[in-house]
Amino acid sequence: MEKILVFGHKSPDTDTIASSIAMAYLQTKLGNTAVPKRLGNISKETEYALNHFKIGAPELISSVSEDDTVILVDHNEPAQSADGIADAHVYMVVDHHRINGFTTPEPVYYYAEPVGCTCTIIYKLFNDNNVVIPADVAGLMLSAIISDTLLFKSPTCTDKDRKVAEDLAKIAGVDINTYGLAMLKAGTDLTSFSAEELVSLDGKQVTLADTVKAKISQVNTADIDDVMTRKEKIEAAMQKDIDSLGLDLDVFLITDIINSNSQVIVLGSRADIVEKAYSVKLENNTAFLPGIVSRKKQVIPVLTSNV
Ligand code: MN
Ligand code: MN
Repeated sequence: MEKILVFGHKSPDTDTIASSIAMAYLQTKLGNTAVPKRLGNISKETEYALNHFKIGAPELISSVSEDDTVILVDHNEPAQSADGIADAHVYMVVDHHRINGFTTPEPVYYYAEPVGCTCTIIYKLFNDNNVVIPADVAGLMLSAIISDTLLFKSPTCTDKDRKVAEDLAKIAGVDINTYGLAMLKAGTDLTSFSAEELVSLDGKQVTLADTVKAKISQVNTADIDDVMTRKEKIEAAMQKDIDSLGLDLDVFLITDIINSNSQVIVLGSRADIVEKAYSVKLENNTAFLPGIVSRKKQVIPVLTSNV
């Protein structure tokens, strides 16, 4: 088979990068030629993990073509994938998200489980194929589980994620809590980002109930108040997105990863959806959402059912 490009979603997070690297490694061990790629900038959290385990970042690409064979990890929705994905040959998908808008003209390998992290599924693929996970790759996969589950505190976290993380920590030779807190903290340093960058760091465009064009962005912090001091600039950046992308709803989640709460800033003609979904009144476009940390489990489906 020709060279396979392995990549995750746009605005890559630690799971997307770790999954790309781990899957490319596994494919290579299985006799294929596979290289990890990325569709955007590396976050500070991911940079911390890559540096800690001394692994280089995948090369940046922006689009694929009909000549490319690809493995999609940590996503399946075309809107979150590389430009030109409709023309490429999708060989395999490994993912833990809802399946939405994904179709192929040919049969495809599709590995999906409703677990907290793509790397939890990849761990199983290593075992199924009797391929040993090297310590540095194991460390990166562990980083992905810590990141996606917020150190096992997210409601998306399953017993499988916990069990796999413990095994990976042994292989990588790190203490989960010590390493995990240091990594998460490295990822919450937002000072160097402009308001425009904050709203695009981890921004996902979704269409809710086929009618409401929405963007839901999330930043993790150890101090919500610190981020809220920049509220006006953040709102200006969100308004720019609403105008340029034609959004009906723009949601910016500021998630306190230590205490597991979020402050939300909401703009757009359908801001009422958020008020209805969480029974809150937005004051100056903002509200506090206790216990809300997971965009995938506690935001997108909840907003969808309140359109
Ligand atoms: Mn992801
Ligand atoms: Mn993920």
